Amino acid sequence: MTVAPEAGSEAGAAPRRRVLLANPRGFCAGVDRAIEVVEQALARFGAPVFVRHEIVHNRHVVARLRRMGAVFVEELDQVPAGSVVIFSAHGVSRAVEEQAERTGLQVIDATCPLVTKVHREIKRHVAAGRRVVLIGHRGHPEVEGAMGQVDAGAVVLIEGEEDVEALPFAPEEPLAYVTQTTLSVDDTRAIITALARRFPHIAAPKKEDICYATSNRQQAVKRLAACCPVVLVIGSANSSNSNRLREVAERNGARGYLIDDADAIRPEWLAGCDQVGVTAGASAPEVLVDAVVDWLRRHGFSEVAELEAAEERIEFTLPAELRAAG
Ligand code: SF4
Repeated sequence: MTVAPEAGSEAGAAPRRRVLLANPRGFCAGVDRAIEVVEQALARFGAPVFVRHEIVHNRHVVARLRRMGAVFVEELDQVPAGSVVIFSAHGVSRAVEEQAERTGLQVIDATCPLVTKVHREIKRHVAAGRRVVLIGHRGHPEVEGAMGQVDAGAVVLIEGEEDVEALPFAPEEPLAYVTQTTLSVDDTRAIITALARRFPHIAAPKKEDICYATSNRQQAVKRLAACCPVVLVIGSANSSNSNRLREVAERNGARGYLIDDADAIRPEWLAGCDQVGVTAGASAPEVLVDAVVDWLRRHGFSEVAELEAAEERIEFTLPAELRAAG
């Protein structure tokens, strides 16, 4: 059911407590594909299948795949020669690709195609003689993979507006910018404005790098925050897009809480609250949303409705290794 954002109760009646679910929420096309890559690889090659880094940043997803036979490692030297190894949705650097090739690993690349698009942009700019400014979060695997697409020094990372002034480039130097796919749309806009002010000739992506799923989920959470004093964001602490959803909720007037699952909800957060918003990061499965809704029903939120912000129809095909007849 879709509802208008207004809450409220009939005059004189007991206040209705309602859950509003953001739509869209949860899995994006890149996460769906990455999880299916692991499942299909296990079906085709048998356990163990190695996965470099958490396939997506959600501990429930990782735990389920581990039970099915996936082995998660941080570095390729933990993978026995000749094994099947899957690269996570966040992408990897050229050095990791080369190491896999050198050591004879059978690679299946689950990098999200929208992350690969950013890799291609970086390589194209560097080939054209431009230095690249990457807007992103230091230490995030997507950022490490993107920076490692080209030689060290060709890409400079900035995290905030304040970093723009410190960039060591002359205004006429050939430059381009790209961004991590899971940033805050609003924060990134401000950084890009500052970049364009200081470097008027900086080349921009043809289509913005923040992905459709990140933008849509932030748009949806803004609508939730406009009518819900509390917004619960289901997602793991290391999930970039989930953290951004909590921040967007807070900036738009709600109290936002990032929770791994229903067990993390504290009843006192909801004291005096008649309408609670619920959303889920792009790596959080719908089964966790169902459990949160059940918890809320048991605590007096008897109505559940959806608040629609965007329609999504994007799907990605599996990597060639898994499409071929097996
Ligand atoms: Fe791809 Fe965006 Fe999903 Fe990341 S959040 S996996 S970039 S669709």
